[in-house]
Amino acid sequence: MAPITVTPWRLVLPEAMKAELFAHLFPGDNDEHGAIILAGVCQTDRGLKLVARELHLAIDGKDYVPGRHGYRMLKGEFIQSRILRARDLKLAYLAIHNHGGTTSVGFSSDDFASHERGYPSLVDISRGLPVGALVFARSAVAGDLWFEDKQRAPLKEAIVLGQRRELLYPSPLKTTQVRRLEFDRQSRLFGDAGQELLRSLRIGIIGLGGAGSILAELLGRLGIGEFVLADPDRAEVANLPRLIAARRMDAIIDWLPRGLRTRFARYKVEMAARNIRRANPSARIVALQANFLEPDVAKQLVDCDYLFLAADTMGARLLFNAIVHQHGVPGVQVGAKVPVSPSGEVGDVFCVARKVTPGHGCLWCNGLINPSRLQDEAVSDEARRGYAYVADPQVAAPSVITLNAIACSHAADDFLFQVTGLKNQDAQQDWFRWNSRKGTAGYDGPRRDLECLECSSVDDSRLGRGDFFPLPTRAK
Ligand SMILES: [Zn+2]
Ligand SMILES: [Zn+2]
Repeated sequence: MAPITVTPWRLVLPEAMKAELFAHLFPGDNDEHGAIILAGVCQTDRGLKLVARELHLAIDGKDYVPGRHGYRMLKGEFIQSRILRARDLKLAYLAIHNHGGTTSVGFSSDDFASHERGYPSLVDISRGLPVGALVFARSAVAGDLWFEDKQRAPLKEAIVLGQRRELLYPSPLKTTQVRRLEFDRQSRLFGDAGQELLRSLRIGIIGLGGAGSILAELLGRLGIGEFVLADPDRAEVANLPRLIAARRMDAIIDWLPRGLRTRFARYKVEMAARNIRRANPSARIVALQANFLEPDVAKQLVDCDYLFLAADTMGARLLFNAIVHQHGVPGVQVGAKVPVSPSGEVGDVFCVARKVTPGHGCLWCNGLINPSRLQDEAVSDEARRGYAYVADPQVAAPSVITLNAIACSHAADDFLFQVTGLKNQDAQQDWFRWNSRKGTAGYDGPRRDLECLECSSVDDSRLGRGDFFPLPTRAK
């Protein structure tokens, strides 16, 4: 195991886990209560991120008892079984308690003294995995994480993932945003803080074809600050009508000799980057002219704040679903389908936007990752390309810009209201489906398998495992 870099860190906490934890810490008795969270470790270019996987509540009087030094403490037996589990599953260990107060919180000197007494030896037991503590108030959290050689780092922020993205800090942030004129209209809706938040986000778009090019345009115009784009393909004349702001010369260079005219066609990620820059010249863009399934490409997408999957292969679905659950990155899968029978009959024309977050909407649980097609795709690139369209690789399935636009607008709007915290707590979470021929909008309620190896917390599952669990990328 490579040594873990010591940096101020972030914690990702699924909404359902936060609700369970808060019911335990704040039952209305104004007393202190305890718990332990085990969390996956993700080392990223933006610093260390921990993804909460398991919550272990300490029972008052049995696991959480009067302390020798401080007011209360977790009992040795309760700690021991959890630190051993953290070591075995390669997870970070976080001891939790609460203080009074609301928007500010910090450890007491008794708390710090107990960390100094206990954590160096717990780091030894966990074999170098980080060990630390969180202290919660009703709307705040502070953290103290210990590494090897008595190094330690404070918590920067906790990100609660659910209907609304909620951020918790040790104390309220000072807001010093300057209103930017070009975003003034939408700033009135979301506040300057909302616009600043959009600027601070890193968004991944997988697939920059018909759907992905629309997403790039929408998100660029919203003022998102950072993009990671992945698509291995160059523009072709046949897909120009569906690519936003595409020009003929992106696909074909007329003045070149016949055999060379399409060889220098633009990559789709370059075209998307051009559109984003047109909307927001200060956006930072990583444009990867490569397949999402390549390990190096996937690695650049695991620390996004939100993922948009607009590439329709089973392999891409499997990997996207894995990143959401393993690295705690919320996302949405968009797609459109125009089924045409061999005799030319058009079936139900529809598009969907499927929101996938830890705890909601796993693509595996819902039978949307077909294992035999997954196997076929692994065989060859030609087969993979074929399945991106229809069963017969010779016939490109019809695809329509309006359908893509409906799915993408829905997905981007949903993202916008989720990250700005403006989504109602009881908002519709089911998957949006628009049927063009029937003219109906509907919602599919996603299923959830309590033993799913992707999204549940059964022992061997992927959920919240971070860097120390393999991602289903293509073998090198
Ligand atoms: Zn305390
Ligand atoms: Zn699942």
